[in-house]
Amino acid sequence: MTREYEVILRNGLVVDPVNGRHEVADVALADGKVAAVGEVTGQAAAEHDVSGCVVMPGIIDAHVHLSPWLGGAPGHRMLAQAGVTFALEMAGPIDGVTKFATTHGCGLSIACIDYVRPGHTVTSNDPGADELRDTLARARAAGAIGLKILGGHFPLTREASARTMAVAAEQGAYVAFHSGTVHTPQNVGGMRESCELADGNPLHLAHINSYTRGLDGSALAEAEEAIDILGQHPNVWSESYLAPINGNSGKCADGAPESVATQRNLERGGFPPTDAGMVEAIRAGWAQVHVLKDGVHVLTGGEEGLAAWKAAGSDIGISFYANPPEPRMHLATAKRPDGSFAVDALATDGGGIPRNDLCSRGLALVHLDALSLDGFVQKVCVSPARALGLSARKGHLGVGADADVTVVDLERRKAVKSFVHGAPVLMDGEVVGQGCRMLVPPEGADHVRGLGLDVLIAEPGSMLRPRGA
Ligand SMILES: [Zn+2]
Repeated sequence: MTREYEVILRNGLVVDPVNGRHEVADVALADGKVAAVGEVTGQAAAEHDVSGCVVMPGIIDAHVHLSPWLGGAPGHRMLAQAGVTFALEMAGPIDGVTKFATTHGCGLSIACIDYVRPGHTVTSNDPGADELRDTLARARAAGAIGLKILGGHFPLTREASARTMAVAAEQGAYVAFHSGTVHTPQNVGGMRESCELADGNPLHLAHINSYTRGLDGSALAEAEEAIDILGQHPNVWSESYLAPINGNSGKCADGAPESVATQRNLERGGFPPTDAGMVEAIRAGWAQVHVLKDGVHVLTGGEEGLAAWKAAGSDIGISFYANPPEPRMHLATAKRPDGSFAVDALATDGGGIPRNDLCSRGLALVHLDALSLDGFVQKVCVSPARALGLSARKGHLGVGADADVTVVDLERRKAVKSFVHGAPVLMDGEVVGQGCRMLVPPEGADHVRGLGLDVLIAEPGSMLRPRGA
C-alpha cells in the first residue's frame, strides 16, 4: 500500500482560529505542507497518537536572542525544547546569528533584524538617512530582514531613531524598537516617545512590559497607560513577555557595564553601576548569570555564577528579577473595545536567555481562564505570522500551509512534539531537529544559502502592516 502522507497526528484537539477549527481531528503532513485535516483515512510513514494533547500551528516567538552579543548559540536548542518552530532574532549582529544557525541549528526557522549600534553598524548615535540606508543594505545583503533600534541598551538621538523607522518604511524593511533615546530612558514615557517618533510608519515595539516596571509609580497604572498609547497608534505592532527576569549583557569595559540597561538594573538592586558592583550583585544573587549546562543556559548566581562571569571575561548573559507580576499578566490578556488584543503578541525575549516560557507561563493564563486557548494561538501564532508577512503560509493549519505544528500537553503546560516544514524537531520532549531555515530578503538569499542554510524569501513591504489594513 502506498503511504500518502509523511506524518499523521491522530485525535488531537486541533486549535486553529484562522480556519475556525477547535475540535478533535487528525492532521496529515506531506511535502512540508499541511495535507489534510479532519478524519484522515490514509496512511503515513509516521503516525502519532496525540489524543489528550492540543495540536496547534507552530509557535512563533517574535522576540528572541540567538547572537554572540545576546542569547548565544544554545538558544536554538532552548527554543526547540519550548516547542517554538519560528523565531525572530531581535538584535544581531546578523553575521553572528547566521554563524550560530549553521553550527547550532536544531531545525527551527528564524529571521533576524540587525542592530543600529554606534561604533558597530553606524558611526555615531546620530546617523543620517543615507548612512542608515547603507546600514540597512549591508544588513539585508547579509540576510537580515530589517533593523533593530536598541534604545534601552545603546541609544540613538531622537532624530536618528525617527530616521531609522522612516528609512525602514521607505525600503519595506522590518524595524523594531527597544524604547529609549539618548534623551529619554526606557520607561512608559520612552515608549510614548517611540510611538511618536514612528510618525505613522510601521513599527514593532518590543517587550511592552519592560516599560511598565513601576519605577516611577504604580506598575499597573503604567500598564494601562501603555495600552492607551498603543490604542492611539495602529501602525505599532507590539509584544510583551511573561517572565519575571529581564536579560542583559554582563559585558564590562573601562570599569563599567557597556549596556545602559545593565547599569540601571545594578542601581535598582542597590549596587553601583561598575565592575565591582557587578561582582557584588552576582554574589548576592541579584544578577543571575546564564551558565551553560547540558547544552542550555541556566540562571546561576552566587560563587558559581561569578566564576562563569569571570571565566567569560564578563562577556556573558545576565538576568535580573526586574519585572513585577501585575503588568506582565495584564498586558498579556488585555483587550481593546473591539475585542482584539491590546498588545498584539506574546513573546519571550528568550532564545538563549532562559525564559522560553510561552507554554509554561502562557498556558498558565489559559489554565486561569485569563486567556482562551484560541486567544493563546492568536497571540503566539496568528499575530506574529501576520507581522512577519507570513499569514498565507504560517500561523494556521489550513491545507497548503507550511507544516509547522506544535503539539502541547495542556496539563503539564509543555510542548511535547513539533514539526517544521514537516520535519520533526521535538519528539516526546527530545530535540531531534537539525539545520536552520532563514527568512531572508531577496538580496540576502544567495549569501545565506552559501553558508549552508535553507532560505525562505521575505517579500519587502509585506511586514508590519497596520491594524485594519
Ligand atoms: Zn530582546
